[in-house]
Amino acid sequence: MTTRTTTKLGKKAIVIGGSIAGILTAKVLSDFFHEVVMIEKDIALDYPTIRKGVPQGAHGHALLKSGEEILEKLFPGFIEELLAAGSVASDFSQDISWYHHGSWKVSHYSGIRTVQQSRPFLEYHLQRRLKMIQNIQYIDGAKVLQLLTTENHSKVSGVVYQDLEGIVTELEAEVVVDSSGAASLTPQWLSKLGLPSPEKTEVKVDLHYASRIYQSLSPIENKWKGLLVYPNPPKQTFGGGIYRIEDNKWMVTLFGYGMEKPVTTAESFLEHAASLDHLPIYEAIKNGIPASDVSVYQFPKLRRFHYEKHRQLPNGLVVIGDAFCRIDPVFAQGMSLSALEASALQSVLVQCQQNQSLNNISKMAHRGFSKVLMVPWLIALVEDFRFVHTRGKKLFGLSVIQSFIKKVVLACAHDKQVYEQFISVLHLKAHPVTLFSPKVLKAIWLKSSVKEE
Ligand SMILES: Cc1cc2nc3c(=O)[nH]c(=O)nc-3n(C[C@H](O)[C@H](O)[C@H](O)COP(=O)(O)OP(=O)(O)OC[C@H]3O[C@@H](n4cnc5c(N)ncnc54)[C@H](O)[C@@H]3O)c2cc1C
Repeated sequence: MTTRTTTKLGKKAIVIGGSIAGILTAKVLSDFFHEVVMIEKDIALDYPTIRKGVPQGAHGHALLKSGEEILEKLFPGFIEELLAAGSVASDFSQDISWYHHGSWKVSHYSGIRTVQQSRPFLEYHLQRRLKMIQNIQYIDGAKVLQLLTTENHSKVSGVVYQDLEGIVTELEAEVVVDSSGAASLTPQWLSKLGLPSPEKTEVKVDLHYASRIYQSLSPIENKWKGLLVYPNPPKQTFGGGIYRIEDNKWMVTLFGYGMEKPVTTAESFLEHAASLDHLPIYEAIKNGIPASDVSVYQFPKLRRFHYEKHRQLPNGLVVIGDAFCRIDPVFAQGMSLSALEASALQSVLVQCQQNQSLNNISKMAHRGFSKVLMVPWLIALVEDFRFVHTRGKKLFGLSVIQSFIKKVVLACAHDKQVYEQFISVLHLKAHPVTLFSPKVLKAIWLKSSVKEE
């Protein structure tokens, strides 16, 4: 991944949106362009905070191993910096207690270390590193309004943005990357140019989130640094998690699929925690001291745009992160997907450099992203279709896959090796096909008589 280049591919690239996908993209582009301009509509502050443009920042954000490793490659020494600043290191299979589909995972030391922190803390530290890169210009408090293209729309040529004083500016560039998240305006911008909107696939889940930070927990004895009670569908559709973050605080996130009465108040937050299949989250917070109000978030559907199939996309336009695909947040894949996509973009840029041409950059990038998305999308859909109210196109052979995965989950309750393999798949480090290995099949077969709850 260290691809410092001497001859640059182009003069200028623009990145729309300065969140996780935008930061990682800007870092990647900075090796290939003389100048990278990142335009972010929020004002940048010099401390971690929940921003208007990233309201999900108030909710639990776990960083998967695949994402962590890419952050470290792009910004060497970053994980140690996070830990020195207050992130919490935990052994995933020992320090996190996890109740999943009716069983607790086998607790053991695996050496699979993850780092825990709040989302604003992570983003702030990434931004700090980005600002040290000389050829990246950061324009904050400015909203991109429009795409600029060549006359026949075959190529992107820049953007139009407006700052807080209302001043409108045109900025030229050879490459424009849209990393503006779920609110991406690229489909509308394409329509305004008279081009087709990208095809999209949506899966309706009606997911509700409610989160609260605690200064301290009830005086109970607990050995964990994190605890997750996953719903047990189709009967139980609510879940929750709690994990330690920076400043000795605790992030508590509750969620429910298809909830008729979403959590909105401090009282309903506690009631919801008490309604889970197991009570450790409720026990931990019932006499705890909150450090924030309850924040809520509604996530109606998963959505992926098929830019990889778009035949008239202006070359030089790339759509990444949540703007490309918004996946079920319960599986904690979004930031890591952005990182995997940034890494795929890096490979595409290396290829462009070999060809000395940006001619196919959009096609190659979107094909790369759609490849990266195959496994996370599969994981999310297999799990989301366990809830009866989920609506969308089902995968072929879904019930067979679901039944097999449930058996793997049950084996994770007693077999350390199976659990470690399962973690690798969930952390997007190994392909799900590795779950069909002889050791996993043997563990399933040995315990086939274990009763499911
Ligand atoms: C409730 C919830 C919980 C989640 N939990 C996890 C988790 O545990 N782990 C995980 O990995 N992921 C999680 N995610 C997903 C994660 O938040 C995103 O995938 C990740 O932030 C990458 O998003 P992004 O950078 O593409 O977009 P965003 O983070 O949404 O950022 C978009 C940025 O673009 C800016 N912007 C928007 N429009 C414009 C414009 N026109 N001009 C200029 N700037 C603009 C916004 O201000 C913002 O800064 C969760 C998501 C939700 C909703």
